[in-house]
Amino acid sequence: MGLGSPVVRIDPSPGGAQGHQPVRPETAPGEAKGADTTPVRIETRRLTALFGRNIAVREVSLFFPINTVTAIIGPSGCGKSTLLRCLNRMHELSDGGWVTGSVLLDGEDIYGGGLDPVAVRRRIGMVFQRPTPFPTMSIYDNVAAGLRISAGRRAAVDETVERALRQAALWDEVKDRLHTSALALSGGQQQRLCIARAVAPQPEVLLLDEPTASLDPAGTQRIEELCHELKTRFTIVIVTHNMQQAARVSDYTAFLYLGELIEIDRTTQLFTKPAKEQTEAYLTGRFG
Ligand code: ADP
Ligand code: MG
Repeated sequence: MGLGSPVVRIDPSPGGAQGHQPVRPETAPGEAKGADTTPVRIETRRLTALFGRNIAVREVSLFFPINTVTAIIGPSGCGKSTLLRCLNRMHELSDGGWVTGSVLLDGEDIYGGGLDPVAVRRRIGMVFQRPTPFPTMSIYDNVAAGLRISAGRRAAVDETVERALRQAALWDEVKDRLHTSALALSGGQQQRLCIARAVAPQPEVLLLDEPTASLDPAGTQRIEELCHELKTRFTIVIVTHNMQQAARVSDYTAFLYLGELIEIDRTTQLFTKPAKEQTEAYLTGRFG
């Protein structure tokens, strides 16, 4: 199946259910214990993601507090994208993709059977490494694409499209050409268009998978600034292999290695005083 080396074989034994508490960043060493009442938007419990019998993410338990940015860092192939894709049920769309454990959105298990995956993806929007505007659609239609449009509600759709484009800091650049092709936009604008498309249905969570990987420095800076604005409305999880970017945009940083969560902490803490040897080694460039 041509799998990369970091994938480990599945351990067929289910393992003990005890003693595996999700890692809550607020209760990291040095933090006030009382802070652990911060409302949580998403929580993973022993989340394991597999491709067939190969484990890409192993028993990850952590919290994503409301209105914060959490960065997921780690070397290529360590499972960052897979973990992200489990958070909105996209992983299961990959060949052989399946999960064990759970992901709670506002306390409800998105894998629990009571929720429609399409509805989950509307509540947890995602933006990918390369801008993915729908090529045959106009700017307007790209943003409206994720909405459930009911006939005769054109004014409401106009309003939603404008709000989303404003939230993505793109409105002023495109308001006079909403009905022209999205492909005429620059790469950075296309990426902000994808952010507009993701926020249009008013999700609770925004997942960004290396959103600036294909952008120039100016485009990158726009997106990083946007993260600070967007977190006032959404809970953001951003995958990046750029540690400076993680340090600039995030409140919390999770370090993933070989599919396992090594540690998560406040970003300033993790970058200055990591608790784990492996994190320190990665941060100082000794591997990865
Ligand atoms: P990262 O985003 O940190 O670079 P990924 O989540 O993409 O890592 O990959 C984690 C592991 O899962 C890697 O070993 C990779 O080879 C494997 N993997 C990723 N996508 C697939 C796939 N579609 N099918 C099989 N294995 C995959
Ligand atoms: Mg990736």
